[in-house]
Formats: sequence, structure tokens, C-alpha cells
Amino acid sequence: MKQTEILAVGAGPAGLTAGIYAARSGHKVIVLEKSFAGGQMALTSEVENYPGFSEPVGGMSLAQTMEQQAARFGCEMLNAEATGIMAASGGFEVATTAGPIAAAAVIVCSGVVPKHLGAPGETELSGRGVSYCAVCDGPLFKGREVAVIGGGDSALDEALYLTNLAARVHVIHRRDEFRGCKLAQERLRQRGNVDYHLSCVVESFDGTQRLAGLTLKNLKDGSRYSLSVSGAFVYVGWLPNTNWCSSLVALDDSGNIKTDDRLRTSVPGVFAAGDVRNTHLRQVATAVGDGALAAMSAHDFLIGKR
Ligand code: NAP
Repeated sequence: MKQTEILAVGAGPAGLTAGIYAARSGHKVIVLEKSFAGGQMALTSEVENYPGFSEPVGGMSLAQTMEQQAARFGCEMLNAEATGIMAASGGFEVATTAGPIAAAAVIVCSGVVPKHLGAPGETELSGRGVSYCAVCDGPLFKGREVAVIGGGDSALDEALYLTNLAARVHVIHRRDEFRGCKLAQERLRQRGNVDYHLSCVVESFDGTQRLAGLTLKNLKDGSRYSLSVSGAFVYVGWLPNTNWCSSLVALDDSGNIKTDDRLRTSVPGVFAAGDVRNTHLRQVATAVGDGALAAMSAHDFLIGKR
């Protein structure tokens, strides 16, 4: 069985930073990732509020740099998905798609997955016009009409990105006020190809083989209307990715991993960092801070154990 001192599960900014700090402290570290380094950050068109960059930086580019930095300190990057975890002698055994890994300490950095609206047609048309990633799928809709659903920073930022590609971007939000920051709202207003559908919800995603449009309901007057779009990008929040570890560590009522001020979970030797834990702010900067703290807490745990 593969063995390590510290296993970070997830190679987003939290996991990669945990890897950097833990490896720099002299530990044998594996950073596990099921898809690609960077997590949600890598799927973000531009990051402009992470300090150290005077100009916006591409999320994917930042992810690659963080991964290279982790590798420079000797982190082993392993491409596999964690599917379970249990306490074992000397620490924990994490089941993965590449076989079990024994670790003396585990840092859970498995991030979040996009929340679905749950409207009829959404699942059937996912990947056929319905998307949760503008950076990945936006270029497929060059010169066409698309919708963005949501009113937070993700919806606003990615709507802005899509205005550069699509002929028209329809922003659909269930309230009259946006949750996302004023700067993003202002930038979007300055674009000439954005239509707003406020106090509106998506009743259904329509189409047979591919998305042809949406049925919207105006919550103020109860009226319904069809909107013809070939792409719909859903940004209505995120769910913590904890299926693989929820039988071991305690979660809060929203399903986030409970942590204390040292990012210890309910189980000694298991730590959590980044979006997956109960935190008030989900940013690249906070994930990086979490990763550093969790790694040092894991270090203290291992030192105490020796
Ligand atoms: P979010 O802030 O939770 O916003 C989700 C949006 O979806 C809200 O506007 C919400 O409406 C709407 N929504 C939720 N459920 C819905 C439903 N069933 N039907 C219709 N609409 C629904 O999520 P986010 O925008 O992904 O942001 C997550 C975190 O990351 C935030 O802390 C955000 O600041 C941060 N973030 C920051 C940046 C940046 O700094 N540039 C970029 C992206 C994300 P209500 O407003 O009515 O609740």
C-alpha cells in the first residue's frame, strides 16, 4: 500500500498550499486530485483579487504555477479520486481510485461541486447546452445567445466573460438585487450585449437533443415566457464535496466540514481547508491561508505524535 505522512485530498489552492507548507516542513506529502490542479479556481476566467498580481491572472495559469511550486518542494501529485476514509493503525487509510493510501495525517481540501437548479430538463440537457463552467464551454457559444442563472460573484464574473464571446447574454436572477460585488455589477452594466431578467426563475430547460431555450417565470406578476438561448450557465452556489469522508468527520447543518481555529476536524489527525469547510468567505486568498494553517496544524500533530 502507498504510504505517506500527510495526504492532502484535492489540489485546489487550499490543497496545493497545504502541500507546499507540509513539504517545506520536511514531510512526505501526497496531493491527490481527481481531475486537474486548481479546482474551481482553474475554471475561473480571471482572478483579480488574489494579491501579488497587478493585472488579472487566468485561474488555470495560477493553478499551474501553484502546482509547479508544490512539485518544487517535493510534493507527489497523484491523479486519483478519494472514495472513502477510515481510521487505521498509525493514522488513516484513504480509499482511492488508484488503490488505498496510508497516511499519518489527512488534510481534506476536496472543495465544492456546482449546485444544480433542479428544474425539469436540466439533467437531460447537461452537456448539451446546459453548463456549469463558462471557461470550459463558453467558446462553444461564440456569436450565439446564452443565459447565466444566478446573482452572486460567480454569475456576474462569468457573465462578463461570456459577453466577449456570445452575441447576447441574458442574466436571470430570482431577486431584483445582486448578491455579487458592485464592481462586477457596474462592469456588466457597461456591456452593450446584456439583458436582465430580474425576479425571474427558470421553470424548465427546454429542448430535445440540445437546449433550445428556457421557460422563465416572473415572480412579481406570475407571468411565464420563453427565452430562446442555445447555452445556459448555472451559477447558483456550490455544495461541499464530502461524500467520501462524511462517515468519519463531523459536518455542520449545511454539510460543510466542521473545523476549529486550527482547522482540526472532529477526528484528531484529520484537518480541513478551503471551500469544503465551514467558512464565511470562499476566495482563493482564504483557501491559500487555510492550506497553510492546516499544513502547520498537521505538522504539529505529527510532531506531538512522534
Ligand atoms: P453565491 O454567492 O452563493 O450566489 C449564488 C446565487 O445563486 C445567489 O445570487 C442566489 O440568489 C442564487 N441562487 C441560489 N439558489 C438558487 C435557486 N434555487 N434558484 C435561483 N437562484 C438561486 O455563490 P457564488 O456566486 O458561486 O459565490 C460563492 C462564493 O465565492 C462567494 O463568497 C463569492 O463572493 C465567492 N466568489 C468570489 C469571486 C470574486 O471575488 N471575484 C468570484 C466568484 C465567487 P440570492 O442572491 O437570492 O440568494
